[in-house]
Amino acid sequence: MQKQLSPDTGCSDEDLSPYHISHQQFERATRHLEGLKQGLIDFFSYPKRVISTCFPVEMDDGSVQTFHGYRVLHNTVLGPGKGGMRFHPCVDEDEVVALATLMTWKCALVKVPFGGAKGGVACDAKALSQGELRRITRRFITELGDNIGPHTDIPAPDMYTNAQTMAWIYDTYDMMHPGKNNRPVVTGKPLEMGGSPGREDATARGCLYVTERFLSLSPIEGLGSLQGTRVVIQGYGQVGSFAARLFSEAGAQIIAVSDSQGGIASLNGGLDVPAVEAWKREHGTVVGLPETRTITNQDLLSQECDILIPAALGNQIKADNADQIKARLIVEAANRPITPEADDILTERGVYILPDILANAGGVTVSYYEWVQNNENQEWPLEDVNRKLRDKMFHATDAVIDRWRRFPSETPEGSDIRTDLRTAAMVVAIERVAHLTLVRGIWP
Ligand code: NAD
Repeated sequence: MQKQLSPDTGCSDEDLSPYHISHQQFERATRHLEGLKQGLIDFFSYPKRVISTCFPVEMDDGSVQTFHGYRVLHNTVLGPGKGGMRFHPCVDEDEVVALATLMTWKCALVKVPFGGAKGGVACDAKALSQGELRRITRRFITELGDNIGPHTDIPAPDMYTNAQTMAWIYDTYDMMHPGKNNRPVVTGKPLEMGGSPGREDATARGCLYVTERFLSLSPIEGLGSLQGTRVVIQGYGQVGSFAARLFSEAGAQIIAVSDSQGGIASLNGGLDVPAVEAWKREHGTVVGLPETRTITNQDLLSQECDILIPAALGNQIKADNADQIKARLIVEAANRPITPEADDILTERGVYILPDILANAGGVTVSYYEWVQNNENQEWPLEDVNRKLRDKMFHATDAVIDRWRRFPSETPEGSDIRTDLRTAAMVVAIERVAHLTLVRGIWP
């Protein structure tokens, strides 16, 4: 796919194209990789394979609707493709390509032997019944055919997909390939179907370990641990709700949270996290919990706090609101929540950002552990999974901080070469994939 990498879409002052943003982040990192050959830069700039499909599904009322689905494989140098399946109205080819690319760097950074992939269907999952979601999933997986598989491309959950969706994916693939151990075709499955202990909260737990490690090593004055820190979380789904629970158990005060319907802030002290969970379960939103103040998602982002955890959509912190952020540290539980222009504003203001490819890599890490267990027909104890996850997150954080600390001495005075944690993480990841590409040799 030969795309024009024009600097601006022309639709808004800030270029919010996921594809352009992904390319900008890559380009910033390559400025630190002088030895990286142009041939490899070109190779990494484009996805290896893009599948775009549309298919009909019969709805509950008997009508037929056509849906658009995508599955993108960005790079397979490290191993088979790995990446989530997203069901959201904004899913399009550009977004899926950008997220697949991100997965390549994420897997390389945490050293799991997978390449980058991503998929999704453009649909409003919240407005669909379970039966409709099941038919969309089954039909989409059938359309993908042998382009997914235990050793080719392995889906996982993402926004508005969950363990149930993964169970349907497994079952559909298994119907098409009877008589084989097909469990490793998908991760994030229900526990009783070969899911891994610890997968459910792995992304949030990874965020926690990365944050704890960073704070223990970091230069943020007066912020040496999570104890007593004030934390704000945007998004209260699979990642955000577990982040609230785990950060609060680790001693932080969760002072505000939100979902697609709005946010709530505590009146004093921290929110009662089990009460927020119960309210969300009962009412489908966090909004309205007694003894809290209702706020908008914009208010939420600009709350006075120590740590802000975006755990919802991309492009939430942009050029037009980056200067309102009062957090000292942003932990990117979501994928691509901060635009490059906002990155610059925040870095300039001394706000630290633990980037998505590090902060939310706990999910793919435990997905990898699930895949290993499925291949071996084993089930590991939860403590083993969490211990392995913590070790991986600590190592990855150390690698990023080590690279980041070496930047200032490498950067010529007056240069605009960026020296933020995202660029450091990208440099580490790109170096690894580039090295392995050359060790394998270019086929034939
Ligand atoms: P989810 O569907 O379980 O939850 C999404 C949450 O975001 C919901 O609470 C929803 O109400 C909220 N939301 C949607 N639109 C919003 C808006 N405009 N403002 C505020 N909140 C909004 O999804 P998830 O699995 O928790 O994923 C969240 C983010 O984390 C995504 O960016 C995803 O790519 C990323 N991520 C997820 C995983 C994983 O294991 N699930 C792994 C890595 C990264």
